[in-house]
Amino acid sequence: MKMLKTILKQFVHKPVTTTFPAEPAKRFDITRGHVVFDPSKCTSCMICMKRCPSQAVTVDRAAKLWTIDLFRCVICGQCAELCKFGALSVDPAYSSSARPDERGVETYEITYVKPEKPKKDPETEDEVLKRE
Ligand code: SF4
Ligand code: SF4
Repeated sequence: MKMLKTILKQFVHKPVTTTFPAEPAKRFDITRGHVVFDPSKCTSCMICMKRCPSQAVTVDRAAKLWTIDLFRCVICGQCAELCKFGALSVDPAYSSSARPDERGVETYEITYVKPEKPKKDPETEDEVLKRE
């Protein structure tokens, strides 16, 4: 009888749970959404890989690849805090669900190019030495 009451209640009351994705999910300032990677800023320093508590990040320096396993990532934001080069951030928007056949793994090609140091002008240097 108790169960019948509960079932009948479902027909007259609004659902307790949200109806995402039919209705957009509510976002708050502190919502933890997903990690965003900028391949043009990553120097392959590997700090994010070493410090990720759930081993969700892999950096392959030789192949210039940065990989995140979305099923492992707990969106703690530590990698974004530690990345000194601004290559990582946490977007409060939810990312689309990862399909099991894709295994939730996203791989990016690192496109960062180390800026060249400005070359010293030998003539100018000679002139300075002569003056001294
Ligand atoms: S994302 Fe940032 S912390 Fe991670 S390897 Fe690239 S530069 Fe280093
Ligand atoms: S947010 Fe946390 S768990 Fe996710 S990749 Fe970064 S350090 Fe790892």
